[in-house]
Amino acid sequence: MTATIIQPGQLEAPAGEITFLRLPARDSFFKDRAERFRQLAREHKMGKFLAFMARIADAQHAALQHFPQVPLPEASELARSREHGMPPLAARSWKRHATWCDTVREITAASASGAPTPAQETIARIGNMTNEELEKLADAVLDGHAELDLAAAPFIAAALQVYWVHMTITLGNTAFARTDMPNLCPVCASAPVTSIVRIGSEHGLRYLHCSLCGTEWHMVRTKCSNCESTKGIAYYGIEGDKGAVKAEACEECGSYLKILYLDKDPYLDPTADDLASLALDILMDETGIQRSGPNLFLIAP
Ligand SMILES: [Zn+2]
Ligand SMILES: [Zn+2]
Repeated sequence: MTATIIQPGQLEAPAGEITFLRLPARDSFFKDRAERFRQLAREHKMGKFLAFMARIADAQHAALQHFPQVPLPEASELARSREHGMPPLAARSWKRHATWCDTVREITAASASGAPTPAQETIARIGNMTNEELEKLADAVLDGHAELDLAAAPFIAAALQVYWVHMTITLGNTAFARTDMPNLCPVCASAPVTSIVRIGSEHGLRYLHCSLCGTEWHMVRTKCSNCESTKGIAYYGIEGDKGAVKAEACEECGSYLKILYLDKDPYLDPTADDLASLALDILMDETGIQRSGPNLFLIAP
């Protein structure tokens, strides 16, 4: 493992207007993730797991295409959220509509064939759960207590992601604004799964990628995405790889979050590449630095 220390003051100075929010796109968000999972699965030790995750992402994509209308915040509630710098679809307080429970059933049914035997058992078990039981598991997943049912948690998370991505896209960019919590998603108040340094029109800009609703929000580089410190930020990577995925660690709060560099690999996907780089989490674990944001599919803490 290698570490590079970046000194304070080496922050980016981007020219012109910076797009603060990048919302997920209905036609490509889960489709691109599925494609990336398939690509990563080809020559990976965890190939079977990643290939199964591709099937789940396919099912998420299908569910998102025909997601029914669900209640959304009124214009006045959105205005109040903007005024007070609060995320309007906060994951822990938003009153979920039962539609998302149907999405769990749809995703499990679609990913059942070809699923590993333990997953098939879980799928059958989820099929017998009531909405109340699913709601209880959803609370646990969103509260970071997936241990309540480790096997079912990824399916619950997959459906919750579809539900939140749908609400986010339906409300659209103008519904959201900066909040008072730059380390949490301005749409749903969840922590980021990774951050990503973009290319193209946003070349060199770093965005935090929401673990639940897929929204990306801008944060300057070489700044801790957890506590905003700019001192003692270090980058850890796995020696010998192409450096597309690093762990950005902060001395101040003792946490890290992975950062992905699209100029090193244009096909990177925050959720898929985070799971595929589990080896880096294992190395970081040895340093004693704690991971700050969750991957809702990472059930082995
Ligand atoms: Zn979010
Ligand atoms: Zn920090």
